[in-house]
Amino acid sequence: MNISPKAQSYMDLEDKYGAHNYHPLPVVLSKGKGIYVWDVDGKRYFDFLSAYSAVNQGHCHPKIVQALCDQAHDLCLTSRAFYNDCLGPYEKFATEFFGYDKLLPMNSGAEAVETALKLARRWGYIRKGIPENEALIITCDGNFHGRTITIVSISTDPDSYSQYGPFTPGFVTIPYNDPKALEQVLEEKGERVAALMLEPIQGEAGVYVPDDGYLKTCYDLCKKHNVLFVADEVQTGIARTGRMLCSDHEGIRPDMVIIGKALSGGVLPVSAVLADDEIMLTIKPGEHGSTFGGFPLAAKVAMAALQVVKEEKLTENAERLGKIFREEISKIKSPLFKYVRGKGLLNAVVTEPTNGVEAWDICLKMAEMGLIAKPTHKHIIRFAPPLVINEQELREAIAIIKKAFEEII
Ligand SMILES: *Cc1c(COP(=O)(O)O)cnc(C)c1O
Repeated sequence: MNISPKAQSYMDLEDKYGAHNYHPLPVVLSKGKGIYVWDVDGKRYFDFLSAYSAVNQGHCHPKIVQALCDQAHDLCLTSRAFYNDCLGPYEKFATEFFGYDKLLPMNSGAEAVETALKLARRWGYIRKGIPENEALIITCDGNFHGRTITIVSISTDPDSYSQYGPFTPGFVTIPYNDPKALEQVLEEKGERVAALMLEPIQGEAGVYVPDDGYLKTCYDLCKKHNVLFVADEVQTGIARTGRMLCSDHEGIRPDMVIIGKALSGGVLPVSAVLADDEIMLTIKPGEHGSTFGGFPLAAKVAMAALQVVKEEKLTENAERLGKIFREEISKIKSPLFKYVRGKGLLNAVVTEPTNGVEAWDICLKMAEMGLIAKPTHKHIIRFAPPLVINEQELREAIAIIKKAFEEII
C-alpha cells in the first residue's frame, strides 16, 4: 500500500510517542461525513468499521454535532454533586425509548459492563438472598466485554488476559451457543448465580451469531432459576442488527441492557445500563458513580443520537440492506472467501488464507480501492458500515469488496 510522507509522519508520531497497544491499518484519517472518511491526502474511503459500530448514525451527523455545540456553550460538566437540567430529561427520554424504569449513566462500554456486574451482585445479595461474597456470574467463551481487570478476568482470549492476573473471582465460563451447558451450571449452582451476561451476537469474536432460539432458551432458563439475564448490547444495540436491540430479534426483554458506542453516534463516550427499579435501586447514594457519567453534553448528545436513529429509520435500513449485503457477498468467487454471516448491518466474512494472502492483506487491498475494514481474529473481516448508507452506496461498496477478493490472488 502506498503511504505518503505526510501520512507516514503521523504514523511515526503515534509509534514514537504513543503506547503500542493497537496495530492500525496504515490509513491516517482527518475528516468524516456520513458513510465516508477522508485521509490526510484527501483520499475518500467507505467506512466499513464505523468505529466498531459507534458511528451508526454516520460521521459528524449534523443534528448530533449541533446538539453538542449548542450545549457546549451553556454547560459541559457539573459532576453529580449537583443536579443539572439535561440529565433528568435524558433519563426520561432514554428509559421511555427502551422501555425500562431507570438508567444509570456511564461513559465507556467497559464502565457500563462493570456497573451491570455490580448491580447483578447487589441484586443477588439483596433480592435473591445469596450469602455475602458467594455470588456467581455466568459468562461465555469467546466473549468481549471490554478491558478492565475484572472484565479481562472473564475473557477467554489470551491476548486480553495474559499477564494481567491475579484475576477477579466469582465467574463461571460456559460455551457460547450451548443452552445445555447453561442448564447444567444452573442445575448445579443456580442458588448462587446472580446473572448470566452475554452478547446477543459476539462482535469481537468475529460476528459469531448464535442459533435461532438460543437467547430465548437462555432467558427462560434464567427465569426458571431466578437469575438475571444481562445483555451486553454495546456493539449490537442501537439498530445495528436490524432491531433497536439485538435481543428484540427473539422477543426477549433482558433484565439489564448495557449500551454504549452508538448511544452518542460516536461523538462522545456515552454508555448506560438500563434496568427496572427492583435491580437499579439496590445501589444507594454514594455506592457507585463517575465524574463524567451523564454529564450535560453527553445527555444532549445521546438524546439527539437516539432521535436520529428513529427519524431516519436506521433499524429498518439495517435490516433491509443487511440481507442484500449477505446475498451479494456470498456470490464472491475466490479461494479466499469461505462464507459471510451476520444480522442487519453487522456482518463478517470468514476467509481462507491462501498462497500467503491473509485477511490483513485483503483489508490493505480494500483500503487501496477506497474501503476500510479491519480483521478480527486473523482470518475474519468485519463489515459494519454506518446505518445511514443507502442501497446504491452499499452496492458500490460491495463491488469494491468483491473486486478486492477476486483481484488480490
Ligand atoms: C466495545 C465493546 C465493549 C467495551 O466498550 P468500550 O467503550 O471500548 O469500553 C463492551 N462490550 C461490547 C460487546 C463491545 O463491543
